Amino acid sequence: MALIIRSSAIHAAGCYTTGPIRKGTQVVEYTGPRITKEIADEKYENSPTTYLFGVGDGSTVIDGHGTAMFINHSCDPNCETEEIDGRVWIMAIRNIAAGEELTYDYYLYDGDEDEARCNCGAENCRKSMYSPEEIRRRARAASKKAVHKTASNGRRAKKHSR
Ligand SMILES: [Zn+2]
Repeated sequence: MALIIRSSAIHAAGCYTTGPIRKGTQVVEYTGPRITKEIADEKYENSPTTYLFGVGDGSTVIDGHGTAMFINHSCDPNCETEEIDGRVWIMAIRNIAAGEELTYDYYLYDGDEDEARCNCGAENCRKSMYSPEEIRRRARAASKKAVHKTASNGRRAKKHSR
C-alpha cells in the first residue's frame, strides 16, 4: 500500500491509497514539528490555511508536514485519528479500496472567524469541519454578536431615514 497526493473533488489536493487497506490499519502518522499553541497562533495569525493538530491537552500542536496533512476532512470518513503515546496516527475505520481518497473527521475547534465550510458531499454532511460541540459554541457566540449588530444597524438605519 502506498499513499499518493493528487487533486481531490473534496478540496484542493487529497491523499489516495494505491492499494487496499484493511479496517484497523495504522495507515500513516500525522508528522511535523511540535510547537506550542501560542507560537502556532502567532505564526498563522494571518494565514487562511493551517495544518495544526492538537495533541494531549491541546497546549502543543503538530505543525503538519508530510503526507497526512493532505488528508481531507469528510463527515462520512473512512479513517479516524488516534493518539498513541503522544503520536497521532490515521487509522482505517473500514476496509478501503485501492484508489479511494483517505478522509477523517477534522473535529476542528478553537477556530477564528473562518466558518470552515465542508463540501464533502456525504449524506450526513454537517456543512462545517468544526466539531459538533464547536458548532454549538460558535452558534451561541454568533447569536450574541447578532444582537449587537441588530442594535447598531437599527441606530444607523434611523439616522439615515428621511
Ligand atoms: Zn461534510
